[in-house]
Amino acid sequence: MENEREESCDVAIIGAGLSGLVAARELRKAGLGVQLFEKSRGLGGRMATRRLGEAHFDHGCQFFTVRGDLFREEVAVWEERNLVAPWFNHLDPQGEASLLPERETLRYRVAGGMTAVAKFLGQGLPVRRQHTISALRRKKGHWELSFAEHGRTFRAPFLLSTAPVPQTLALLDDDEAPGIQPALEPLRQISYAPCFALMLRLDQQPRFSPVGFFAPTDHPEIATLADNAAKGVSSRLGAVSILSTDTFAEANFEEDPDDVTEKLLLASRPWLAGCEVLESSLRRWKFARVVVSHPDRGWLVSPQGLAFAGDAFGGQPRIEGAYLSGLWTAGEIRKIFATR
Ligand SMILES: Cc1cc2nc3c(=O)[nH]c(=O)nc-3n(C[C@H](O)[C@H](O)[C@H](O)COP(=O)(O)OP(=O)(O)OC[C@H]3O[C@@H](n4cnc5c(N)ncnc54)[C@H](O)[C@@H]3O)c2cc1C
Repeated sequence: MENEREESCDVAIIGAGLSGLVAARELRKAGLGVQLFEKSRGLGGRMATRRLGEAHFDHGCQFFTVRGDLFREEVAVWEERNLVAPWFNHLDPQGEASLLPERETLRYRVAGGMTAVAKFLGQGLPVRRQHTISALRRKKGHWELSFAEHGRTFRAPFLLSTAPVPQTLALLDDDEAPGIQPALEPLRQISYAPCFALMLRLDQQPRFSPVGFFAPTDHPEIATLADNAAKGVSSRLGAVSILSTDTFAEANFEEDPDDVTEKLLLASRPWLAGCEVLESSLRRWKFARVVVSHPDRGWLVSPQGLAFAGDAFGGQPRIEGAYLSGLWTAGEIRKIFATR
């Protein structure tokens, strides 16, 4: 998957989350040279799975839904390959999830964890991991990308960013990309809420729902609890992911992680009765959920060879929205290259 020889390409893509991977795949299909840069070690971005001891946890996105035909076609391929499966389609008034015949919107789980989808999409794509874009400069019709990890640079006539929009905007200043600011103004309204994900390895399997998902109604601290063993993510029993509410994360974001863990453990006691915590790990997501999105599916600044995609676009701030944004934006970039 790594390709260290190519030091330039047609389109450089920041981020190997769902939207970046889908865009890269589509651009490749159209015959364009792409290169993905990802700051993390793994693919998937907020579709994140990690190990704690021998247990596995989804610690970002917990499930996804399918509303439109385009995404339905893609999910059908994932389902054929046994990557994804229906998880639940009903939440009772307390928040206990179950899979019933013909109920509300179906929520899908990813067998083996969310990152399995990203690994599938990333097959054959050139991704440079642990490459954090730290500076962007527009020079003689090219973007020059600099990295936090080393002093090398990379050049491409076109740049697509799928990183959180405020982070990309912070990299685009007027000195390094003259004249670009007015085109970026509509993106300054985009905002995100933070979230804590607490992963708990327990001595036994908790019993909070037959399918392993609970979303307590109007709880001040806890948004969701997921049992990764019941979900088919962890072969080890006693692997629970707890997501905080936005309000709790906002109020406690800078607090000591041990204090946050204590607070979330206390709040989740009713669902973990009788279980002993063997190990815990807290993940802080600064840009977890899009609160204010942009109505367009993506954003193009064509004269300067720049585009934005991701779940912040199209008014559907979730997995399906990220997928559609990657797809749409790649289509627009293809059109630009076709006229060059
Ligand atoms: C806790 C949590 C729970 C969620 N629950 C759900 C859910 O139940 N259902 C649902 O549909 N959606 C859910 N989501 C949202 C869903 O995960 C996102 O909508 C989707 O994954 C976004 O994909 P993306 O490609 O737009 O962005 P991302 O997945 O965020 O991808 C962006 C990528 O860019 C990389 N990056 C950032 N900056 C740089 C840089 N400077 N250099 C290089 N790389 C960089 C990041 O590491 C990341 O891999 C949840 C998200 C979180 C965090």
